[in-house]
Amino acid sequence: MGARHQPIVILGAGVAGLAASIDTQAPVYEAADRIGGVAAADHVDGFAFDRGIHVLQSWDERVLGMLADAAVPLRTHKRRAYIYSHGVYTPYPFQVNTAGLPLGLRARCLRDYLLRDRNLEPQNYEQWMYKHIGRGFAETFLIPYSEKFWTVHPRDMTFEWTNNRVPHPSAWQVLRGALWSKRTAVGSNATFLYPEGPGGYDGFVDAVAHRAGPVQLGQRATHVDTARRRVCFNDGHDLGYDTLISSIPLPDLIGICTEVPPEVEAAAARLRANSIMVVNIGVQRADLGPYHWVHFPESDVCFFRISYPANFSDDVCPPGCASISAEVSFSASRPLPREGLVDRVIADLVRVGALRADDRIVATHTHEIRYAYCIYDKHRREAVRIIRDWLKRVDIEPTGRYGLWCYFWSHEAMLAGRRAGARAVGALQSPT
Ligand SMILES: Cc1cc2nc3c(=O)[nH]c(=O)nc-3n(C[C@H](O)[C@H](O)[C@H](O)COP(=O)(O)OP(=O)(O)OC[C@H]3O[C@@H](n4cnc5c(N)ncnc54)[C@H](O)[C@@H]3O)c2cc1C
Repeated sequence: MGARHQPIVILGAGVAGLAASIDTQAPVYEAADRIGGVAAADHVDGFAFDRGIHVLQSWDERVLGMLADAAVPLRTHKRRAYIYSHGVYTPYPFQVNTAGLPLGLRARCLRDYLLRDRNLEPQNYEQWMYKHIGRGFAETFLIPYSEKFWTVHPRDMTFEWTNNRVPHPSAWQVLRGALWSKRTAVGSNATFLYPEGPGGYDGFVDAVAHRAGPVQLGQRATHVDTARRRVCFNDGHDLGYDTLISSIPLPDLIGICTEVPPEVEAAAARLRANSIMVVNIGVQRADLGPYHWVHFPESDVCFFRISYPANFSDDVCPPGCASISAEVSFSASRPLPREGLVDRVIADLVRVGALRADDRIVATHTHEIRYAYCIYDKHRREAVRIIRDWLKRVDIEPTGRYGLWCYFWSHEAMLAGRRAGARAVGALQSPT
């Protein structure tokens, strides 16, 4: 044992790392100068901007109890989400709300939906769409949107992650939505929660941090000696551990570990994620419209989604102001032209009617999420298995959205962190 040793050490103070510390009270080492990771909010000129849209879609007692415990008030919202396509704002999800779209398009979507091959054994996400929503909806909305969002074509993705992430409307809802109803609310976030108060989604982070152990900020793990069970930080100090709980992105973790077997290195190199640039615009106009968020499948608009923070909470914009958060997706296979991005976003916001040309912009801010959504391609499952098997052998417990390399919402990342903490405690208590 070296000079400094902790039975359990946690890397990353996002909601997963913080949650892992609740039951263990183990120290959390965070590279950034603040907690919260992707679920944190940025505070700029009186505006609170989440890092891409964040809403709480859990009614789990463990989650709500934790928020109540920390006295974080929540407001319940009925989703007002739209899709901007063919020059029309259509309520989300598209497949149950096509009544406002051009007749020819509506007829095609409906025909293809009714004639879809329900016996198809899908081999990829594109075929999964054909089976469940038909070619019309797929080709008009979900394929272009997915390609814009994920930066890879759905035919190169699996569909194991879809579950409650892609709405499954009934045939009657689809039919009704094409004929007259413009408001069929389906999907897991048809009703959602959002913290009250000036912090934006930080309210959720604060609730998780409320019962966590000590957090050391500005401490980037730079080296993990897997043989000696020691982790080294950017300021040069190092620490021994029995179990290392890591919520840092899997490729980065493997990159700083010693004695990594070649097959694990190769597996880490196969993991892919998209990145998102969040472009935040503060405007001197209190009412920018009724929406919570809008999706943009068409390629001539640079963002895939915008959200309206003032419609989530009264406290996230200065008086008389509102804001829009635009999300632009990119990756190695589809790089982001950064020059003039904020101006391009503003121009597109004006073009789609979200801003007026004479709106007074009072704040702009960008935040880059390098690892945003882990891509479920054909390599992911096996690559993750190989990496996890090895980490287990060297007493590293990966957790969280990027540690487990999956599509977790914030409450799921938090619950995964708690499970990781429980396992680490169990490992300490079990006789060797
Ligand atoms: C654009 C977007 C929108 C989303 N919308 C929603 C939503 O509406 N609802 C919802 O519930 N969830 C949403 N999510 C998911 C949610 O944000 C995540 O599930 C959750 O925040 C992940 O937390 P985490 O702790 O696993 O990871 P992270 O938040 O990434 O935490 C990891 C931490 O590790 C730190 N770190 C990295 N490297 C090191 C190092 N070497 N040493 C020390 N520390 C390090 C990082 O700084 C970070 O703080 C969204 C995610 C994105 C990207």
